[in-house]
Amino acid sequence: MTSGLLGAIGNTPLIRLERVSALTGCTILGKAEFMNPGQSVKDRAALFIIEDAMARGALAPGGVIVEGTAGNTGIGLSLVGNALGFRTVIVIPETQSQEKKDMLRLCGAQLIEVPAVPYKNPNNYVKVSGRLAEQLARSEPNGAIWANQFDNIANRDGHARTTAREIWQQTGGRIDGFVAAVGTGGTLAGTAAGLREASPDVKIALADPHGAALYDFYTSGVLKAEGSSITEGIGQGRITANLDGFRPDFAYRIPDEEALPIVFDLLEHEGLCLGGSSGINVAGAVRLARELGPGHTIVTILCDYGTRYQSKLFNPDFLRSKALPVPAWLERQVAIEV
Ligand code: PMP
Repeated sequence: MTSGLLGAIGNTPLIRLERVSALTGCTILGKAEFMNPGQSVKDRAALFIIEDAMARGALAPGGVIVEGTAGNTGIGLSLVGNALGFRTVIVIPETQSQEKKDMLRLCGAQLIEVPAVPYKNPNNYVKVSGRLAEQLARSEPNGAIWANQFDNIANRDGHARTTAREIWQQTGGRIDGFVAAVGTGGTLAGTAAGLREASPDVKIALADPHGAALYDFYTSGVLKAEGSSITEGIGQGRITANLDGFRPDFAYRIPDEEALPIVFDLLEHEGLCLGGSSGINVAGAVRLARELGPGHTIVTILCDYGTRYQSKLFNPDFLRSKALPVPAWLERQVAIEV
């Protein structure tokens, strides 16, 4: 038995991904973060950030939590907030999936949609949320805090304490590599720190989507982005506080054309319904498996549940509009008329 919602966050299963394991001769394992109550890895960050703010006395009962988020962190913050008696105000770029926005509204979050503009623009969703938090801290009777997931290292530290420790225990320490994409960097840098502390031999890899700047940064020292991706929640253009001091052993830039067939394959053949960032992660695990050679054990993150992207990733019209391949079974589903 768990104690309420908070006790149901984390301790997710580690699932062997059969087809990519067979393909590479490695054991590729996916940490099933989509099984958290808010159906994403970001429930963890939400809990770490709220617990930290409460421990510091920064968050008073009835207070407001403000955050800029691609959606999943907002869902985690609203669920944990509801369980602990805090309200949430969420600033989200309007380009994010309708399903995430709907979920946020039904969780009771106040949602503010803003145009998707780069971080250097003062109207970027992260910066808007920071200003709004300052404003609400003055006007709200019980105060307000800015969760600030990108630069709040309670995020990274929590992953080192929980995600890394769970992976180490679940593999019995038999792990050769860990790979993940970056949104805030909390998952990658935090889990890497925890695993490296357990064993300096664990190889850490970044899986970067197109449109992100970290691949170039870790391979040539320059923050430079190229192309674009339909994946959500990942694709960073700067070194966040959560990434400060972190270095991967390997970095891969993964196109959607490589990641999305993996997402479709995992659903069609293994029953795993996942979002696009999980595809980038598993594609990264395949690259790391090729790098290390057969016989190794590689862990990655299955970040969130696929229903969150029904209108995009699993919509043939959307895929065609982006010149991305449509899997045959998805076409068949749409073609059936009775
Ligand atoms: N995948 C999805 C779907 C996400 O929402 C996020 C977080 N924005 C990530 C991956 C990346 O996690 P992190 O912020 O810990 O880097």
